[in-house]
Amino acid sequence: MKNYLYAIVCLLAAITVQGADDLVLAEKGKTGYQIVLPVTSSVPEIGRRLNQAARLIQTAFKTNGFDIQVVPEDKVDLTKPGIYLGDTAFARETGADISRLAGWTYIHKVAGGNLIIAGCDQPDNVKPETNKPHSPGYWLGTLKGTADFLRQYAGARFVYPGETGVEYLKTPRITVPGDMNISKTPVMLYNTCGVSRDLIYDVANNMFPMVGLHFYAHSWPAAVPAEKYRETHPEYFAFVNSNRCCTVKSSDGRWMEQYCISNPEVQELIYQNLIYWLDRGYAMADLGQSDGFQACQCADCKKLFKTGDDWGEKIWIFHRKLAERAAKERPDKRVMILAYGLTRQPPKSFKAFPKNTVIQLVGATPELLAEWNKLEVPGGFTTFTSSYGPYGFAAFTPKITPRKMESTARLFFASHLQGFYKDGGNQLYGLEGPAYYVFGRMLDDPATNRCNDILGEFYSGAFCETAPWMGIFFGTLYHRLEFFAAGTSYVDADGKSRQTLVDPVHYLGCIYTPDFIASLDNVLSQAEKKAYSEKVKRRLALVRLEFDYVKSIATVVHLSNAYQVQPDPASRARLLDALDAFRARVDSYYEKGKKEVIPGWPEMPSLGGLPHGWVNLKAMTYSRYNETVFGWDTKALRDAPLPAPGK
Ligand SMILES: [Zn+2]
Repeated sequence: MKNYLYAIVCLLAAITVQGADDLVLAEKGKTGYQIVLPVTSSVPEIGRRLNQAARLIQTAFKTNGFDIQVVPEDKVDLTKPGIYLGDTAFARETGADISRLAGWTYIHKVAGGNLIIAGCDQPDNVKPETNKPHSPGYWLGTLKGTADFLRQYAGARFVYPGETGVEYLKTPRITVPGDMNISKTPVMLYNTCGVSRDLIYDVANNMFPMVGLHFYAHSWPAAVPAEKYRETHPEYFAFVNSNRCCTVKSSDGRWMEQYCISNPEVQELIYQNLIYWLDRGYAMADLGQSDGFQACQCADCKKLFKTGDDWGEKIWIFHRKLAERAAKERPDKRVMILAYGLTRQPPKSFKAFPKNTVIQLVGATPELLAEWNKLEVPGGFTTFTSSYGPYGFAAFTPKITPRKMESTARLFFASHLQGFYKDGGNQLYGLEGPAYYVFGRMLDDPATNRCNDILGEFYSGAFCETAPWMGIFFGTLYHRLEFFAAGTSYVDADGKSRQTLVDPVHYLGCIYTPDFIASLDNVLSQAEKKAYSEKVKRRLALVRLEFDYVKSIATVVHLSNAYQVQPDPASRARLLDALDAFRARVDSYYEKGKKEVIPGWPEMPSLGGLPHGWVNLKAMTYSRYNETVFGWDTKALRDAPLPAPGK
């Protein structure tokens, strides 16, 4: 029966293929195709995602005037060719065997006039712990394959999360190469900031969640928790200043969790914790010393591995031994070792890690990657960074530029970096959206894709009729942000690293000068007047929301400067009014009962999805914003006498 079916679709295909090159899926307002799904899926989530992929194709076709039906494979119309999604019998019979695929890999294959889009669709198969929350993970290669098909051949642009974020460019004729037969494995295993607004946007832009990976970074405290062992085994803990450290609490109120790693039982507990996660089904688990590392001062630790006081080397040798043992005892699994703090630099006493080892670099700079690439790290690298989050001077004003993301993608690719975790990040789709898009699209082909081409694609896809104005808007913004692209520190003549700026208000004053804000406002207003499509209006509303937030901050900054120059009652009153206006603006994002910050766009909370006291900067302790004008009590100050001169 199956062979008979195949013969028919092949015959049809021979009729449908026009010329040697292209297979026409739709043209002149019609399509002869149907979308075919597997009859069943043993995993409901995978079935749901395949349906979602089918609906996406249907919507893209419909936008261009093509009606296409979705059918399960046992109800297939034998007189028509199909677009076969996922693990169909047809895909398997025609050599598109997805059982051999791993991760987010997918196949695009033309077989007898049919198009097969099939990827690795698998659950992580992790056994959850009893009474602990667990969100199963899935590799959804077919969803990735569908998003890429729609972008490459059907005019879809995944410019922002949510339905509002998908644009379908007019594509009156949808074709694919008649001899298409590719298998694509994305360059990243994972690329995430831990929050997903919309999985379709994410996978389309090569932002993959961590699947099958136990990620904890600091695994030692999880393996030897102080609460469990501090009373029965104080000797497990680091000997610091004549005491076992588990007798004191750290600043966060927890018992100190630093360890005496020459103790064989501690070594075994750390190893068994690694094995515990691998045996629960994770394909990879991590290994890392405690945060805020403190060395044990006991004699045995000093002697350990003959490294003396070189604790970076001591920890590397220890971790490599654990990885070697895991390679023998769990040969199919991988170990991700943390390179952070005193282990951020490579080991000195050896040059090769075992086959199962991945190194997680915290803050992967070009210089650090160059050092690490001199070693043999068979599993490659991943990285964790906080520099995309709100922790620096920029807080929730934009800081990531498309140019920076182009060079980052190239660096990652050249350095075999395959996992990226952003602590914070992707919080400002309005003002940083083009940079997120450039990074995602660069990862499609890091060696040859170019930032400028991708930006053109983004502006036309996201802003359509207003694209020329928005190109100017973002070009002007990112040009100014280059001012601090090299950072705010330098090395002085004595070799000391020095900060050029220590006050975030100074930073903001340098970037957002009044003439600059006015010119951006002018261009954005022109775009707003030209917009007519609902989606474009919503996307501009997002840019406007974040721009007005920045403008409001800049107003406070400049009036604060004016008040310092001329500290009189009128100057102070203007500043306090501006500060109250800024706070009222931020309050409006959080109005009770308000479901959507941008009406009609539930997936886009923008600034409203972030902590209130951080967004208004009043409780923002990072970069000590709370100690600047943004921490002022305006009510109290209005009634207070002016400070004496010089105060
Ligand atoms: Zn010790």
